[in-house]
Amino acid sequence: MSKTVTVVGGGLAGTEAAWQLAQRGIPVRLFEMRPARPTPAHVTDRLAELVCSNSMGSTLPDRALGILKNEMLTLGSFVIRTAFKHALPAGQALAVGRDEFAEEITARISDHPNIELDRQEVTVVPDGPTILATGPLTSDKLTHAVQSLTGRYLYFYDAMAPIVTYEGIDRKIAFRRNRWDKSGSEGTDEGDNFNCPLDQAQYEAFVDALLAAPRIELSGADKELERYFEGCMPIEALAQRGKDALAFGPMRPVGLRDPSTGQRPHAVVQLRQDNVAGTLYNLVGFQTNVKWGAQAEILRMIPGLQNAEFVRLGQMHRNTFINSPTLLRPTLQFKQRDDLFFAGQITGTEGYVGSALGGLLAGINMARLLSDQPLMQLPRPSMSGALFHYITHAAADDFQPMKANMGLLPSLPQPVRNKRQRYASYAARAKQALDTYLRQLNFTPLN
Ligand SMILES: Cc1cc2nc3c(=O)[nH]c(=O)nc-3n(C[C@H](O)[C@H](O)[C@H](O)COP(=O)(O)OP(=O)(O)OC[C@H]3O[C@@H](n4cnc5c(N)ncnc54)[C@H](O)[C@@H]3O)c2cc1C
Repeated sequence: MSKTVTVVGGGLAGTEAAWQLAQRGIPVRLFEMRPARPTPAHVTDRLAELVCSNSMGSTLPDRALGILKNEMLTLGSFVIRTAFKHALPAGQALAVGRDEFAEEITARISDHPNIELDRQEVTVVPDGPTILATGPLTSDKLTHAVQSLTGRYLYFYDAMAPIVTYEGIDRKIAFRRNRWDKSGSEGTDEGDNFNCPLDQAQYEAFVDALLAAPRIELSGADKELERYFEGCMPIEALAQRGKDALAFGPMRPVGLRDPSTGQRPHAVVQLRQDNVAGTLYNLVGFQTNVKWGAQAEILRMIPGLQNAEFVRLGQMHRNTFINSPTLLRPTLQFKQRDDLFFAGQITGTEGYVGSALGGLLAGINMARLLSDQPLMQLPRPSMSGALFHYITHAAADDFQPMKANMGLLPSLPQPVRNKRQRYASYAARAKQALDTYLRQLNFTPLN
């Protein structure tokens, strides 16, 4: 008889992990603290509750979330299969009947002969084989217990700056320079960052638009967060302090000369490389809580970003996540303890689908660990492999959660200019890489 695996958290990641184990004949004890202990976002006692939107993103086979969902079906995902059963008409996106979806997941988990569902809060990190999947709203007591395991590598909120693709940056306008050059004078060395220069009129128009923009209201416990953000204030809050505040803050131009004019611009927006491949750039110091539609429009006022492709827009909310680049292996094992896995949003894989993906890999790998099989490390050209590679290899100092997106994939051997063709090539390569890997591993997905 196999050891019982403890899975903590009956959300998207936890139910997927529990199912994968149970279907492989492994007994599971799944802890879910609701309804006795609610979270600020969940409103039912169901497992796998979708806390906000009911969309799981694109179903197109050449879009990031389309590729990811197909890979998860190939790997035997219970959550994605169930989501498709309850799909609503939504064009080329997977919108889900949230009640029916969560009801089915709850019923099938509760009825599974290998799963014992235990409705109580876990307050310590359990001994023995464990998967921690308690999500962005992990309870306070468990958060403290995880912190004693991870030290400072645990965060309580996130203030995310937008991220754009390299291809969407107009490099005729944005220039590569670091602030100051090696001799300490105003930068002339080719640098790592891109800089988008603004003259005074452009800067003032940008600030005016920012001040007029609608903001996402923080509510309840999240309102508390506003206190903590002095060190990383949202740009709209900074702008409120005075017209020049941004030009002296994250948009300061000192140490930079625009090569096309030979002059220091009035203000700049710096773009910092965000992944090893150099396909993604974040807007330095540009954490913001402006509503998403207005946000994209305002950011496209920045010279050099007029055609920007956003893979993530700025936002703030409570978010408990660990520093995966420091703490986890790409198998989702905790580096310091082989039989402890983390899965879901707590690892920094952002979004419903990415969260379920973590449960899928952690469940399969825990089963493999218990039966002395080599653990799965998904190939990098696949979307799932690219996402796990990102969360375990990103720069640890300013690690932030990440959604599946095309920019995570390694570059193609030959650049393809046409976007549709480029995405089709990425998708074909991802499929081939995963299929080959699973064949080599002799992997059979379980329904
Ligand atoms: C407010 C908010 C809105 C979001 N909106 C979206 C969106 O629209 N689209 C999107 O793709 N993503 C969204 N996300 C991000 C993310 O996709 C979801 O949070 C997703 O549910 C994460 O899946 P998970 O399995 O990691 O965590 P969850 O689905 O939150 O599951 C974790 C479970 O663990 C339980 N739990 C916590 N602590 C304990 C404990 N100590 N003991 C026992 N059980 C515990 C919780 O009750 C919960 O059921 C949102 C996140 C937040 C916080």
